[in-house]
Amino acid sequence: MTRILVVDDSPVELKLTARTLSQAGYEIVTATGGPQALALARQSRPDLVILDLNMPGMDGYEVCRRLKEEEGTRDIPVVLYTVRDQIVDVLRGLEVGADDFIPKGTSKEEMLARIRRILSGSFRSEREIPLPDFSSLDGGANPELAARLLEDAFHREVRSCLNMLFGIHATFLILERARRQAAERSPLIAPAGYEALGALLFIPERVRNASTSEVIAAFQAFASELVRVTARLAHMRLYGPRELDELIRALKRMFQTLAESSAFRRSSTRDSEGPLPPEPSIRPLPPSGEKPPGVSGAQAERSLSLLLDLRGIVQNVDDEMANLLGYSRADLIGQPLETIVPESDRESLRQLLQRVRDHGEAHARLRLRRRDGTLLPFALSSTALYDAQGAVALSRHLARPLSESAEERALSESLLYRERERLRQRLERIEEEYETLLHILSHDLRQPLQIILNALHLLSEEYGMKMDEPMREYVTTVQHSALRLREMIGDLVKLFRITPRTLQREPIDMARLLESVRRSLAPLLERRGAQVDVVGSWPIVRADPTHLHSVFANLIENGIIFNTSPRPTVEVGYSGVVDGEHTFYVRDNGMGIEPQQQERIFQLFYRLPAQEDFPGRGVGLTLCQRIIQAHGGRIWVESTPGVGSTFYFTLPADPEEMS
Ligand code: ADP
Repeated sequence: MTRILVVDDSPVELKLTARTLSQAGYEIVTATGGPQALALARQSRPDLVILDLNMPGMDGYEVCRRLKEEEGTRDIPVVLYTVRDQIVDVLRGLEVGADDFIPKGTSKEEMLARIRRILSGSFRSEREIPLPDFSSLDGGANPELAARLLEDAFHREVRSCLNMLFGIHATFLILERARRQAAERSPLIAPAGYEALGALLFIPERVRNASTSEVIAAFQAFASELVRVTARLAHMRLYGPRELDELIRALKRMFQTLAESSAFRRSSTRDSEGPLPPEPSIRPLPPSGEKPPGVSGAQAERSLSLLLDLRGIVQNVDDEMANLLGYSRADLIGQPLETIVPESDRESLRQLLQRVRDHGEAHARLRLRRRDGTLLPFALSSTALYDAQGAVALSRHLARPLSESAEERALSESLLYRERERLRQRLERIEEEYETLLHILSHDLRQPLQIILNALHLLSEEYGMKMDEPMREYVTTVQHSALRLREMIGDLVKLFRITPRTLQREPIDMARLLESVRRSLAPLLERRGAQVDVVGSWPIVRADPTHLHSVFANLIENGIIFNTSPRPTVEVGYSGVVDGEHTFYVRDNGMGIEPQQQERIFQLFYRLPAQEDFPGRGVGLTLCQRIIQAHGGRIWVESTPGVGSTFYFTLPADPEEMS
């Protein structure tokens, strides 16, 4: 017989879980605290441990950690069974070696199915996930440059994708975990906590002494850990397989970007390891008037160029540049550029040259002194030129003269940039607080409520027959209120999870979407003898299809429910684009809404007093409003009591998406 150890500090919870499992034919052993659980696990060798997280003294995480540490208990699968159902909790669970995570409130059938799956051992065989093979890239002879490019591309393509899927805080935790795991496999990966902002993937000092292929292999190890964590999250059904697909897609995009970048392409086209091919040999810069190579259009007309060696000595300069400074080319070639850079800008020059050496390219603003002593500001765009051994030999600088106003503009741009950074950081903090609040809402409040509900369940089951009528009524009232409270918490969590970041926008064929809404409402339409007319032609819009489906379904349903006419009729239409917005409407021949109520019906949990006998919790319209606003649109109602209501909403129109 399969033996399961159930651990929970709440006797009510313990009893209910144990009963469900023993009814399903398992042998049950119970413990009410961590130390007792550990002792029982050692003694009775269960086939599975079901562990509550919130326990005083030694909590579930700690119990799990110790079980997984000990030789004798390491192989017993551990399921965390808890009201905590946020990604943060699951990640902590993974950290201590938990095998699965079942949120309390999961239906009995699903819970049993998952337990069977774990016991059968099939959960252990994680399916192979196809991952782009980064090791096929070849970053040439400069490991630091390769690491920089990998890091940049990772943050741009993958981290931003994770942020969107999971939120900033959870992404941080996911990356920390992947880094920690990868650091065990590769000494080049910075372990968690290596750097305060968590932005660095590699340890710079170690990268310097490694080969480029080691850097790429380290990244591959990190990427596969990242995919593994996401797969585990998908497995635990906290998130679906969609997140995993998105991650793989982002990694592929990243791979593509790198494969196309010149630093990687230059060497990945070669057959074997070896020095970088030499850059085209240095030849005199084109005479003035001719465009420098690789530069075109307006920028070229105003670009001047300059070649420096590693010590900053001018190797070449074009006529135009020399003329502008009041010198001839011969005056400048062979001179340190520093001689015409004012003292105050020399540090910028040194840093520019250093960055070009380290990263292959850099940008800076610098003033040069003309022969007549006046200063001219330039924007320099600088790249490294490599010798046959792949080492940086020279630097090429395209210089764009800045007029005073352009210089001022550059300054204000940098102020704007700083301001934007400050706001971005503030936004991140607010988002973290927001997620903490959601966390509290969905854990800390649900836990005691679940206990109340379970205790009431046991009370009516075990003592129902002994209670007299008023007692039974009290219990029923408490039960109803507790259930309502649980639903309200669920509504709040659902509502606050909808943010512009969490939307999954894609092009939607609105006519097809409405067809599917109509199908989902068919039973209601039939029951009420109601009719839905979808009129006019419909555009393709870019929006979240699931959410947009709910908006239409809610509005149409309301039009039919709050309707006493013998044949409730709802017309759904599209009014075209007005002021850059698509406008849609849902019109009914229902009971209408008094003018003073027309704003209030969008408030959460608000229901019209006259309509309390109708079903509903006063959430539908708030949800619609939240969804539409997250898309950047508006929603409102126009209504005449006794005649009917028309709900309008808009979605921003993107001209490219319109049909
Ligand atoms: P629910 O339908 O869950 O009660 P809603 O947020 O969808 O919540 O609606 C809030 C209230 O607004 C409803 O209880 C109802 O009183 C009123 N209402 C919504 N839609 C209509 C409508 N089409 N006609 C008349 N009253 C409506």
